[in-house]
Order: sequence, then C-alpha cells, then structure tokens
Amino acid sequence: MTTDRMLKFVDTAKRSPTKRSADERATDFGEIYAEFDAAGAGEQAGRCSQCGVPFCQVHCPLHNNIPDWLMLTAEGRLEEAYEVASATNNFPEICGRICPQDRLCEGNCVIEKGFESVTIGSVEKYITEKAFENGWVKPVVPPRERTESVGIIGGGPAGLAAGEQLRKRGYQVHVYDRYDRMGGLLIYGIPNFKLEKDVVERRSALLADGGVNYHPNTEVGVTVSMEELRARHDAVLIATGVYKARDIQCPGVGLDGIYPALDYLTASNRKGLGDAVPAFDDGTLNAAGKRVLVIGGGDTAMDCVRTAVRQGATSVTCLYRRDRANMPGSQREVANAEDEGVVFQWLSAPEAFMGDRRVTGVRSHRIRLGVADATGRQTPQPIEDSSFVIDCDMAITALGFDPEDLPSAFGTAELKVSRWGTIGIDFRSMMTSLDGVFAAGDIVRGASLVVWAVRDGRDAADRIHDHLTAKAAGASRDAA
Ligand code: FAD
Ligand code: SF4
Ligand code: SF4
Repeated sequence: MTTDRMLKFVDTAKRSPTKRSADERATDFGEIYAEFDAAGAGEQAGRCSQCGVPFCQVHCPLHNNIPDWLMLTAEGRLEEAYEVASATNNFPEICGRICPQDRLCEGNCVIEKGFESVTIGSVEKYITEKAFENGWVKPVVPPRERTESVGIIGGGPAGLAAGEQLRKRGYQVHVYDRYDRMGGLLIYGIPNFKLEKDVVERRSALLADGGVNYHPNTEVGVTVSMEELRARHDAVLIATGVYKARDIQCPGVGLDGIYPALDYLTASNRKGLGDAVPAFDDGTLNAAGKRVLVIGGGDTAMDCVRTAVRQGATSVTCLYRRDRANMPGSQREVANAEDEGVVFQWLSAPEAFMGDRRVTGVRSHRIRLGVADATGRQTPQPIEDSSFVIDCDMAITALGFDPEDLPSAFGTAELKVSRWGTIGIDFRSMMTSLDGVFAAGDIVRGASLVVWAVRDGRDAADRIHDHLTAKAAGASRDAA
C-alpha cells in the first residue's frame, strides 16, 4: 500500500548524489559520484509514483521490484529494502553504479516526461552499501549440500551470478578463470572511476565464504581440457565473455604506439590494483604527457579517453564515424568525458596511421550518414576530399569485440557456434550442442552489459538445476 511518503515527484525535484567536479576527478581514479545520505535517499525514493504497471521494472533486465524497494527506502526500512533488491540481483551495488540507467530502468520511468526520472540506480547502490555496512549481506548457507558439482568457465558477472545461485541450491561449485582474480571485465576492463575494485573483490570474497571454489590462473583449453572438466563435473557452464578485439583495416596499422583498448585498460586497472606492470612503467601503455587519439564510440572508447585524461595526457581526442545521437555508448558517459576535457571528432573515420616507425598522427575523413541499413542504423558514407590529420603520440583502437574461436580453443569441434562465433544454445534449456554443457553472458549474446550477464547467469543456474534434477530422477527410475 502506498504511504504518504511516496508520490513526491511534483514537489520534490530530482537530485542525484554529488558528482565531483571535472577538475578534481580528472586527477585521480576514484569513483566520481558520492553516495546519498539517508535523508537524500529517502527523499529521492519518495518521488516514485508507485505505478500499477512499473515500466522501470519491465525495462530492467532483472525485473527488479523497484517500486517496492523505493517505498521501503522512503520509509527508512532499509533491511527489508535490501532483501527485496537482492532477491533478484546478485550484485545490486555493482548494477547501481554501472548500468546505463538512462537506457534501462530510469529511461523508462513514467515520471521522466515532465518531472525527470527517479534516481533508481543511486538508490539501489545506497541500499546495498548500507546493507554491507550493517552486516546484512551474508555469505550463502545452502539448506542442504548436494553431491553434484558444476564447473564454471569464467569468473565474470555471468559465471559468478550462476555460481552463487547454484550454491544457494547446495551444488558444489568450481569457477575456473584464466586470470589471477575473479570478476572478469568488472576487474580488468571497467575502470575504477566507474567501479572501484574493492567493491568487486568484496563480492568475490563473499562468494568464496559461501563455498564457491575458485581456480584462478586456469585457462580451459590450456591448463585443463574441456574433456577433463566434463568428466570432473556433472554440468559445465561456459561464461568466457568476448575478448577478440575487432581489427582496423588501414595503412600504418602496425606502427608502434597503436594499442587495442583492452590492453590499455587492463594495464591501467592492474596498476591501480598494485600489480607490477612493466608495459605501464616503461611508458608503453601509459598516456602521461602524450597526445592521445581513441578510435570508437562505445563504452570502451569512453573508458579509454577518460583513463587517458587521468593518466595526464596532454590532449585526448575521440574519433567516431557517426554523430553524438548515434553513439552506442551511454550518453551519461559521453557527457562526463566532455566535462573532463575530451574533444570529440564526430562523423569522422580513420584513413591511415601516419609515421615512420611510431605513430605521429591519423589521417581521417569526414562522414555523412546515408540511408538506414537493415538494422535501422544510417550507413556512414565518406565525404570526398574531406581528409584532415589529427596529430597524436598514442592511438587506441576501441572498435568492439568478437568471440574467440572456442571450438578450437577447447578442442571440441562439436560445440556449435553462430556465424558471429557466439555459442549457440537451446533458448529453453540454455544447453549447448554438448550434453550437460551450458553457456551464458557475452559469449552467447555478444558484447553486452553486466546486468544482462547477471540475468543470464541466474537463468543458466536454474536450467542447470532442472537438468541435474531430471538426470537424478532418471537415474533413480533406472535403479528401481
Ligand atoms: P566477462 O566479464 O568478460 O568474464 C569472462 C571471464 O572468463 C573472464 O574473467 C575471462 O578471464 C574468463 N575466461 C575467458 N576464457 C577463458 C578460458 N578459456 N578459461 C578460463 N577462463 C576464461 N557493462 C555495463 O553494464 N556497464 C558498463 O559501464 C560497462 N563498461 C564496460 C567497459 C569496458 C571497457 C568493457 C570491455 C565492457 C564494459 N561493459 C559494461 C560490458 C560488461 O563488462 C560485459 O558485458 C560483462 O562483463 C560480461 O560478463 P561475462 O561474465 O559474460 O564476461
Ligand atoms: Fe536499473 Fe540496472 Fe538496477 Fe535494473 S539492475 S534497476 S536496470 S540499475
Ligand atoms: Fe516509480 Fe518511475 Fe518505476 Fe513508476 S516507473 S514505479 S514512478 S520508478
């Protein structure tokens, strides 16, 4: 029932948590948004109109029960708010920070038109941070232990969400990751100023406390074979993400000083975690004192330009072939980049990298957007005689990611993939073409979002449970 603390959107203006000034935040890697205080969170949650058909919830990939946890927050009943928020989301404090809310829950909030949306993501983060502070976030304690075990390949959000859900049902869970830390792109892709690493490490430690077994530095297909994993476990989940950087085809692409986005971001994140990173320390993957050009317009490109600003680049330019309205990245992150001093060259595409041994600039041309293609997006067309040169000392390519060739890497030619290389699954059972092997996250969808990886991981855990339950029932029938 709606209380008198709700429906305040007419009198109470939208207020987000304080954002640090562009000058201040450009000098460090700390998160840029502060947290709500109790009064701010309650006041902002109370703006919700408690819609009968909450479009925020419909457009949240996890279908979070947003109106209920907003009402509980407005009433100061935070522990209950946390229970509701965490019932559908394994990592609410992470999604609250890094979901592109403008495209998901908040972008579909009905009061958006005329009154500006409820600050859903910031309240979700607030509730969960309070829950951690008050000790309400507890490791999983399964009601009973099962003997069946599940092997999960990949400790990113899809693998970890699946792992936690399976532990809740009492399965023995083993997560194998080729990296030394769990978290996938939450640790080595997304920079600290969006998501501080102790937030991710706090979660992975909690899962370990709940009995999830980690096997870091274990690359499936190299350290251990897929065949071995299938023999070791009753079911296997592939949640390996997509990592093959899309190439750029133009002259000069082999010059020194041109790097793929993820190499650059991983070096920066490792440095922030205190690791020894020779390629950063010797200046190779460090933008300090350099004129940096980033090619691409997605979230990865935005993370690169903003990392370069913080490393002390003398100038940072982003080259993108479409216009601002057609950028795939979150508009919020584009605005943050502009505030931090990044210069955007819209409607521009690279033609050639210049330089003898090392890149000194990128010759580019202007683009006009033509008729829409089959996907509905306008096709970029080069404008004749529009070449211009942008000088740079470092160029970063952020053109998206494709899946690695998993059937070859795993030595399982029978593993069916789509024509894009993503793993094919039966959409009802989430099983791949290999019996007892499931798949979830970016490796199925292609490069996507953390919240979708969590959703897929949760769904896969349910489907694995159905499969193992049916298998156990079949075995007991056979024995009878
Ligand atoms: P991943 O997070 O990629 O995890 C896969 C894991 O599998 C990795 O740890 C990898 O080491 C491991 N692995 C791969 N192959 C093997 C193998 N053979 N053996 C063992 N382990 C293996 N999304 C958002 O919602 N908001 C954002 O702001 C955002 N920013 C992003 C910024 C960048 C730079 C990038 C690259 C992505 C961003 N995304 C963002 C997308 C988001 O990070 C991904 O959609 C999400 O992490 C996918 O989760 P996943 O679990 O499927 O894969
Ligand atoms: Fe919004 Fe993401 Fe939270 Fe869903 S998980 S409510 S989309 S911030
Ligand atoms: Fe509240 Fe907006 Fe969701 Fe409606 S759409 S329930 S106003 S948050």
